[in-house]
Amino acid sequence: MDSYKNKTVEKGGFRKFFNELFDIKSNTVYVFFMACCCIIHAIFLTVFAILNIYPMMFFNMVSVGLYAILCIRAKKAESIPPIMPIIGEIAFHGVAATIFTGWNSGFMLYVICIVPLVFYWPTVKRNYATAFAFIFTFIFLATKLYCCFFQPIQSDIQINVSQMLYLFNSMFSFFMLTYFSILFKKIIDNKQQMLNEQNNELRKIAGIDPLTGLMNRRSMYEQLHESEKLRSNGSIYSITICDIDNFKRVNDTYGHGCGDDVLKKVAEVISTEAEKSSGVCRWGGEEFLILFNDTGTEKAAEITENIRRSIEEADFSFESGAPDITMTFGVAGTESFPELGLDLLIAKADERLYNGKKSGKNCVVSR
Ligand code: GH3
Ligand code: MG
Ligand code: MG
Repeated sequence: MDSYKNKTVEKGGFRKFFNELFDIKSNTVYVFFMACCCIIHAIFLTVFAILNIYPMMFFNMVSVGLYAILCIRAKKAESIPPIMPIIGEIAFHGVAATIFTGWNSGFMLYVICIVPLVFYWPTVKRNYATAFAFIFTFIFLATKLYCCFFQPIQSDIQINVSQMLYLFNSMFSFFMLTYFSILFKKIIDNKQQMLNEQNNELRKIAGIDPLTGLMNRRSMYEQLHESEKLRSNGSIYSITICDIDNFKRVNDTYGHGCGDDVLKKVAEVISTEAEKSSGVCRWGGEEFLILFNDTGTEKAAEITENIRRSIEEADFSFESGAPDITMTFGVAGTESFPELGLDLLIAKADERLYNGKKSGKNCVVSR
């Protein structure tokens, strides 16, 4: 059986109690429901005593006792109250009270209310709840059929008493249905909120390179497309593509673990130096792309040169080894190539990077 962390109804004022009434994680919901059932049966007990319907009076004494025990147990947070005695009591009471007082007293309305109740109850599986719903439908119709053929046992109940009972029973039935509908809605809202949060988290994870913590190629493409769109308003942007020099040799000499350490450190240095850029991503294996919005090629090349120097000067000593690390950079901007679209601009930066590799590496090529 489920039990809750948020167990007891603490003293904290009416507002707290009211909030907990609609907090599906709080057992106040069950305490409140059991207390309501207890009070309602105390009222029935009095009514049946006044109407001299003693079997129903005794039945309600037992019901009051049952709900009082369930209420105390729920308050002590031992568990969610067991559903079987509750639905058994409601169905049996509905049928018995109808046989005694007649269909028009409205006692069978409670049988309708237990349909959402079994679906709400956390300990009842959906298939069982559906089966219960069919059973309650059968009980409801069978009782109606019985009332078509037989007079109520207490046939001397005045019509206005019967109407008063109907009013009270329908009012409380509506109250029950409304309360459980609010709880249902709360459950759905909570689940939806949880789903949204998880989706956001997943979206974030899907856009991040797990090794370096930088954006990955996919999310950088989204940003690049945004920058490309803004070109129609006259905005400019530049990109730098860079690649670690002789990285294969680092892996071969110091091992793959050292290569990974280098990639992380490179990502750290580029991010720090390109702080004012619009984004840095791990473009591929040991390649990175830096986006500079509202920045011309010359300014981007200047910042890139600082990055190159920082990489050259950075300390790449790890437990796994201390390789010398340099990088080669290719820079291209829309200001210099207004005719090139995004993919051709990337190809241009790549071409310049390649030229840099050919001309001795560890350099920035922006022309
Ligand atoms: P160049 O100076 O011309 O760029 O030479 P290079 O050795 O850096 O270039 P090459 O493309 O031959 O080698 C890139 C290497 O990067 C090969 C691949 O094993 C390595 N690599 C790619 N991704 C990772 C990674 O996530 N971790 C590690 N440790 N190595 C990686
Ligand atoms: Mg390389
Ligand atoms: Mg490469």
